[in-house]
Order: sequence, then structure tokens, then C-alpha cells
Amino acid sequence: MKKLLLSLFSMTNAVFFSAEVSGGGAVADKYAEARAEMVESQVKTRGVLNAKVLKAMNEVPRHEFIPARFLSGSSKSAYGDYPVPIGEGQTISQPYIVALMTELLDIKTSDKVLEIGTGSGYQAAVLSKLAKEVYTVEIVENLALWAKEKLADYKNVSAKHGDGYLGWPEHAPFNKIIVTCAPDNIPKPLLEQLAPGGKMVIPVGEFPRQDLKVVEKDKAGLILERDIIPVLFVPMTRDK
Ligand code: SAH
Repeated sequence: MKKLLLSLFSMTNAVFFSAEVSGGGAVADKYAEARAEMVESQVKTRGVLNAKVLKAMNEVPRHEFIPARFLSGSSKSAYGDYPVPIGEGQTISQPYIVALMTELLDIKTSDKVLEIGTGSGYQAAVLSKLAKEVYTVEIVENLALWAKEKLADYKNVSAKHGDGYLGWPEHAPFNKIIVTCAPDNIPKPLLEQLAPGGKMVIPVGEFPRQDLKVVEKDKAGLILERDIIPVLFVPMTRDK
């Protein structure tokens, strides 16, 4: 039962690798082709078409953010159409969900972005390609340490260990907030730390019913909320 909770899915059909890969990718590592295929078959076909988001996902080496022991023999499994364990009972989100949430945020190059639930660090790395600054908070210390190391070369990312329910007030307000674990209500501190005109993407609800929501704060501070799709994320936990 617990295992079920720890996985994360979207309500779409799985699409797997085809043997053919498109050539011409500018990125030089061994998995550039697997990445391009991931973007084509999992992300674009499901309707995420924002060129900047696709470029960022083509660039970030997803396999480097997953501990080798979870990569079932080959780093290529990092590019499959599913979430992958990262240790401490947590998972890195399915590529499509990373793409969808990033697109929904509509990030500008001048944006300051807050992520709650650093996990592997992968989502933060994708955000770093689009935003001016990224702040990310992780509650599990070992994961926070792992991600900090993996994100060392992403100079516009700051990561810390802590309870993300509280946001990161020292760096507020944020133009965009992305939450990758599910609280049962939208945390008040996050609403407060969202800038006027800002946008938050957050899964809300308790297993087995969570909705991915877009929450917008208008210039006058009024909050508008809409549901996007049903999703399943790990729950947001709190410091005792
Ligand atoms: N964005 C991640 C996915 C992480 S899964 C990635 O790209 O890999 C969700 C993460 O949220 C887990 O690592 C979990 O430990 C973390 N989490 C749960 N509750 C939290 C809280 N209150 N504050 C910060 N992180 C939290």
C-alpha cells in the first residue's frame, strides 16, 4: 500500500521508447538521444509544446540526478515514462509531469522561482534553465544533501534542508512557486510569499484524490484557483 502512495502518475497512456532516434542533438553526452526521444514521445505527444521547456528538458541530464542503484543496470532507464525511486521512499517525477508543471508556470527569464520538494534536484535543474533564480527546499536531509551536490554547477539555484510548508521567507516574494509533494490544503505561507501577478502550481488533496492546481494572485492580491488534472504525488510531510 505504502509503495502505491510513493509513486506518481498522470492519467495518460504510457508511450515507450521506439528504436529510432532523431539525430542532430547539440548535447554531447551519451544519453542525449534517449532524452530527445523522451521529449518527443512522452512530452510533445501529450501536448506540452513550449519550446523553452522542451529545450530545457533536452539539456538536463536526468540520469545524473538518480542514484545508480535505482537505475536497473542502465542509465537509459532514467528516461522512461514513469517516476523512479531516489531513496528515502521518495521518487523523481515522471518526465511528462515535470514538463507539464514547468509549462504551467509560464516562467520568464526575470522570474524568481520557489520549489518545495527538491527530491533528486532534477526539477530544480530544469527550472534553472528558464528562470533568473531558483530556491528549493527539501525536508529529508539526505535528499537535500544529494540534491545540493548535484545542483552545485547550477549557479542560479539555492537549495536548503527544511520544511517547505513554511516557504523560504528570506527570499520572498516569488514570481512562481512549484510544489512537488501534496499538502491537503494550500499552505498559507506559500500564498503569502507569492508575488502579486504570480503563479503557483501545486497538487492538493489526500490519496487517492489529488488535483494539480494552478493558483494565481492578481495585482490586487486576489487569489484565483483552477484544477488541471488528477495526479498522485507523495504527501507533503511536516517537521515534528
Ligand atoms: N521535484 C523532485 C520530486 C520530489 S518528490 C524531483 O525533481 O526529483 C517530493 C519531495 O518532496 C520528496 O523528496 C519529499 O521528501 C519532499 N517533501 C515532502 N514534504 C516536504 C516538505 N514539507 N518540505 C519540503 N519537502 C518536502
